[in-house]
Amino acid sequence: MTQRYFIETFGCQMNVNDSEKVAGLLRREGYEEATSVDQADVVFVNTCAVREKASEKLYHSLGRFRRIKKQRPELRVSVGGCVAQLQGKEILDRAPGVDVVIGTHNLSSLPELLERSRDSSEPLLELDRKADAFAVEAVDVVHSNRVRAFVTVMEGCNHVCSFCVVPRTRGPEVNRTPGEILREVRHVVEQGFAEVMLLGQTVNAYASDGIDFAELLHRVHEVSGLRRLRFTTSHPEHVNKDLARAFRELPKLGGYLHLPVQSGAPRVLADMRRGYTPAEYLEKVALLRAHRPDLALSTDVIVGYPGETEEEFEDTLRLVGQVGFESIFSFMYSPRPGTTAFRQVDDVPEEEKRHRLHTLQRMQQRFQEERNRGRVGEQETILVDTIDGPGRVSGRTMHFRLVHVDGEAELLGREVAVRIDSAGPNAFRGSRVEDSALETSA
Ligand code: SF4
Repeated sequence: MTQRYFIETFGCQMNVNDSEKVAGLLRREGYEEATSVDQADVVFVNTCAVREKASEKLYHSLGRFRRIKKQRPELRVSVGGCVAQLQGKEILDRAPGVDVVIGTHNLSSLPELLERSRDSSEPLLELDRKADAFAVEAVDVVHSNRVRAFVTVMEGCNHVCSFCVVPRTRGPEVNRTPGEILREVRHVVEQGFAEVMLLGQTVNAYASDGIDFAELLHRVHEVSGLRRLRFTTSHPEHVNKDLARAFRELPKLGGYLHLPVQSGAPRVLADMRRGYTPAEYLEKVALLRAHRPDLALSTDVIVGYPGETEEEFEDTLRLVGQVGFESIFSFMYSPRPGTTAFRQVDDVPEEEKRHRLHTLQRMQQRFQEERNRGRVGEQETILVDTIDGPGRVSGRTMHFRLVHVDGEAELLGREVAVRIDSAGPNAFRGSRVEDSALETSA
């Protein structure tokens, strides 16, 4: 009988892409996707260690799977991702019922380990750093979006940010060759994907075979049939003139960049070991906007980092106001085991952190509401990438703004002209401008 898999993914797009690869690996072995864990023979939980909540959610899920396993002992439960790499055996001690724990560089072993675990009285653990960061590249990735394909260009990180576990869980940077990347991009475009998102923990640090990231963008941009090109996540240190110029020269690139700042206070940034000052961050923004004045920027901010004073928090508010971000992903600092900041005293009281978070979010929300209201009446072209429900779809503008419109599933993957009718802080409602709908499906 056909075996079925169910995958639960926490965290960033890199994790989503890893889960897509795991799905590809399992399909190659004859598995099919289950719609829920109740129908599954095998579960894979892809974990994230960046936020405390994400690892709490892991143990919550594992508790749920354990209860299911009591009814169906043949269910295999496997755990991968950053928490698996970091905690390894601790997961097995804390969560009985787990059959396989696998590291971030061992994904290609998963089908075999699942198989072996059926005859093993002990759970199986594989965490060694095999050089298989991209060993699963030959597999046909099962993309979770039907329009946008993720393509990993590099993994790991050579930075040493004090609050981050990634260098420990993912190791140092490993870059794919331009040839491998271009082969995969051509492959997904041939499959009908209109948009490619290049992924890496510090994607713009990419360097391989004498090619830097800006040059890689130019080469990917040339792939015939590709209509939109995006990338994430960028580090401010690796923003340079060539990258800024790419935003002007490459029309498929659109006008959006996620550029984490984390704080607007010089002392906090230095403690975080981010490698730039607030002034340097603003210089990078100015450089980018000199080449692409309409560039929409989003960012990450941590409030309540150890020792953050009220004045330092105000520095952050000031910087955020100065840049005028399209959106912000903001978090209260929480000490993460395995990071250098974990050794520092977490001295900003919880209540104060919450207060700062709300202050920042309220300020940003007001800004987004007002700015978005000003866009009502504008005409945009969206690439439809999601079916929201019966008779309703949504897509992204070139600036990655989300617009919901009436329309049927056949619009998926098509670029359509829309007029913005109303605006919320995070999304727009539009209507199709029928006569000028762009017939540009791939
Ligand atoms: S740049 Fe810093 S925050 Fe980003 S992955 Fe590397 S260590 Fe973590």
